[in-house]
Amino acid sequence: MESYHAEIPLKFNLPRRLGRLGKFVYNLWWTWTPESQRIFLRIDGSLWEAVYHNPVRFLNQVSPARLEEMTHDRYFLDFYDKVVRHFDEYMNARNTWFDHTYPKHRHSLVAYFSSEFGLHETLPIYAGGLGVLSGDHLKGASDLGLPMVAVGFMYTQGYFSQKISEDGWQEARNVRLKFEDLPVMQVLDESGKPLTIMVELAGRGVHARIWQIQVGRIPLYLLDSNVENNTPADRELTARLYSSDLDLRISQEIILGVGGVRALRTLGYSPSKWHMNEGHSAFMALERAREMVIGGQKFDNAVKSIQHTNTFTTHTPVPAGNDEFPLWLIDKYFSNFWPELAMNRDQFLDLARVRQAWGGEAFSMPVLALRLSEHHNAVSELHGQVARRMWHHLWPDLPEEKVPIDYITNGVHTDTWLARRLQGLYDRYLGSDWREHLDNPALWHSKIEDIPDEEFWSIRRHLKRKLVGYIGERARQQWIHSGIHPVQVIASGVMLDPYALTIGFARRFATYKRAGLVLSDLDRLLEMINRPNRPVQIIFAGKAHPADEPGKLLIQEVYRKVKKAENGGRLVFLEDYDMNLARYLVQGVDVWLNTPRRPNEASGTSGQKAAMNGVLNFSVLDGWWREGYNGRNGWAIGTDQEFTDLAEQDKADANSLYNTLENEIIPLYYHQRTADNLPGEWIARVKESIRTLSWRFSMNRMIKEYTRRMYFPELELPGADK
Ligand SMILES: *Cc1c(COP(=O)(O)O)cnc(C)c1O
Repeated sequence: MESYHAEIPLKFNLPRRLGRLGKFVYNLWWTWTPESQRIFLRIDGSLWEAVYHNPVRFLNQVSPARLEEMTHDRYFLDFYDKVVRHFDEYMNARNTWFDHTYPKHRHSLVAYFSSEFGLHETLPIYAGGLGVLSGDHLKGASDLGLPMVAVGFMYTQGYFSQKISEDGWQEARNVRLKFEDLPVMQVLDESGKPLTIMVELAGRGVHARIWQIQVGRIPLYLLDSNVENNTPADRELTARLYSSDLDLRISQEIILGVGGVRALRTLGYSPSKWHMNEGHSAFMALERAREMVIGGQKFDNAVKSIQHTNTFTTHTPVPAGNDEFPLWLIDKYFSNFWPELAMNRDQFLDLARVRQAWGGEAFSMPVLALRLSEHHNAVSELHGQVARRMWHHLWPDLPEEKVPIDYITNGVHTDTWLARRLQGLYDRYLGSDWREHLDNPALWHSKIEDIPDEEFWSIRRHLKRKLVGYIGERARQQWIHSGIHPVQVIASGVMLDPYALTIGFARRFATYKRAGLVLSDLDRLLEMINRPNRPVQIIFAGKAHPADEPGKLLIQEVYRKVKKAENGGRLVFLEDYDMNLARYLVQGVDVWLNTPRRPNEASGTSGQKAAMNGVLNFSVLDGWWREGYNGRNGWAIGTDQEFTDLAEQDKADANSLYNTLENEIIPLYYHQRTADNLPGEWIARVKESIRTLSWRFSMNRMIKEYTRRMYFPELELPGADK
């Protein structure tokens, strides 16, 4: 192990009284504590918006006179001191859930590998749901005191930002991130040079430096090949997420898996458990095997101990979505590697050899991950069934239902996604320590009823007004700065009504998610949404992967319908869906729509974010919603049924969608107002939704399940608190 330190790249010019802010912003704890964000808001609210909630840029640009002024504001200083004290208590806590559940295992360590992490909008190193889940996983692990270290990529260009042309075509813009402007630290060796690791890629040594993001108590190390001693092409290897160029992709996955293990070793970590979040990082298991074989163990024994300490989570119910490499690429990149495992080519390829639909052979990352881990899970109950069917051929002697792939349904990190005002409301009515019991159904069952409808509804109204105001301001800025056509300004939502029933549909535009389903019978929809006394509006947002032509065509199809004058500005498409826009939407709309073609949605998480904010789900019974829906806490589209004919399935689902919208959702929202002008039955349904879903689809519930069942099953303690 070398000696190293993580360096904060910038020195801010801060008054001494506020000096701690310079370090404080380099721990992402501020991303999930609204009170921390209020520090910046109070100092200079418009600058906080202008720097897109990036505290590093904020401290760089804020006026010194304004900071000086704040040092004389006693109320501000009290507030600031309280937040800093709260942060210190959080970081030093010795009474976390993990501490008291596993008192003897504080020195255990879980290494968590993922190709993307969605932590905050200022760090665009995520593409979508998988990344946001990884980010929430780290935040939840930090809250619960689970000892964890994480590994990923610092993409030098991040994920693209999206523009929509007048004709509805998605344009991708890539910008080079300025790491020194981000809450990211560089890991340096004792002489102050970047600490690097090296992997061999087809005979050449490729170096990667290491960045650190501190996520509460959890360090996240991110690899980046943009270092001087690499060739120009190698410096670009980690530039972007999910290239469709397989040579580039396998290079990235070797850097993540093999390089990730080397980075942890260089930094002095010896994790006791290892988690591969999706197959992209599965080469990690091979590097661990290589370490053991070089250390004198036989490969078979090494595999046993690796399996025993490895967890693999699959997220992909669609066979085409699984990562596979042609064998010639494996030859190119691993022919120097298998001798180090004391293996020949065939033995090595057999670790993950699959036959492809057209008869060829490939090397499958999920198969490698399944073979080299003892604990594997899918991310919802139905996805578990699909995964067992999909991978049955790896366990040909077992009946399908005995295939050892379990499920742990995804959850979301409450403090990241719950509106600040609702956090305050829950503080008042659930007890100030409700976060400690977040995943305990009893808390929610007994206390939600105590919240007065009026108080609750006034917060819901506020959140919708805030969403509509934000959308209007974005449209105004586009109108001023982007030279867009007036019709695009309307399509960006300037005519939204803060009092109309508002439906949100925001997610990646992959065709199986069927963004067009709700628009499939446009005449019927327009008739419904344009009734003057019961207007309905639908807000769409989402990116398609830049190489996904059908996804981009789908955006275009939706956008062309959104632009039509007949919808009266009530259909809207918002550009550049990211975590910031996601927060506004899941907090601000009334109904969260999801229309995947069952059973392709492994879990889905955006509906979970919506539910905790008092938004009702209206979704296909797929992924998490199939488990969450109880008949009274939202609405189902279609039934729990399998189809073989896709066109028939789409037609049945569209019919079900329109009928429920027309006959149940719209009338419930508008008709059943009580004397005090509150939609009493709607609110009752919302409370049922919060009561039944908030705890169950929380990150705390999920992390505890991973800890007990995947990471430390051997430590299961009788009588440990649930
Ligand atoms: C939560 C989230 C997702 C995942 O949502 P799904 O329901 O899985 O589609 C994707 N992107 C962003 C920005 C999110 O916040």
